[in-house]
Amino acid sequence: MPPRFSPDSRLVKAIEPSPNFGERRGVIAPDMLILHYTGMKDSEAALRRLCEKSSEVSAHYFVFENGRIVQMVPEKKRAWHAGVSSWEGGSDVNSRSIGIEIANSGHDFGYPDFPKKQIKAVIALCKDIIKRRKIRADRVLAHSDVAPARKRDPGEKFPWTKLHKNGVGHWVRPARTLRRKSLRVGDRGEEIRAAQEMLAAYGYEISPTGTFDENTRKIVTAFQRHFRPKRIDGILDPQTRATLHQLLSSRPHRRD
Ligand SMILES: [Zn+2]
Repeated sequence: MPPRFSPDSRLVKAIEPSPNFGERRGVIAPDMLILHYTGMKDSEAALRRLCEKSSEVSAHYFVFENGRIVQMVPEKKRAWHAGVSSWEGGSDVNSRSIGIEIANSGHDFGYPDFPKKQIKAVIALCKDIIKRRKIRADRVLAHSDVAPARKRDPGEKFPWTKLHKNGVGHWVRPARTLRRKSLRVGDRGEEIRAAQEMLAAYGYEISPTGTFDENTRKIVTAFQRHFRPKRIDGILDPQTRATLHQLLSSRPHRRD
């Protein structure tokens, strides 16, 4: 059994130590917060899995549907939640981040709404971590933002607007403009390159090739899941493009 530890947050109701962690590499302290859903029908089983050595996965925190918060890995350690992922050019997201697993069966099992109590607890926990760790608003992200080719969680039902209203994360109201055209798979040209550059500037792992390929579609889809959740179709329509533009111009200043 891994040794027990003291909770990092006063909001933690119980410690369920996971053996799946290591030392953070090349960073002094985490400066990202990654939100997940568990993607399993049974939340107790999801927690058990995150604490089983054979699963080789974990996260720092687990938030049940009723708002109960459990800590599995101390914040100073590197938990194993993000997998192959990248943001702002950094590929070891696990070393840089704190991971929160939110109990929800996910897209494969009906994708229920997140209960109010659960979201309230997630907001409180995020606020607590952000304050202690001084995490920048635009580094509070979905798993799908850092691994758009593989992941959909926590998904388009996750209320980023509500989090933002409560001081968690970077978000703008989806914008509207009629001047731009829609860009989609198969399109090529300078407009695509410019859009890819904007996505990369925000943090997504994408090369400005000028071709709207399958990878670009996946990243646009991830972007929409987070920032324009009403329609997720992988098409860079005028609203999606304008929202991306506004996000870039309103992002908090970089520290480095
Ligand atoms: Zn995840």
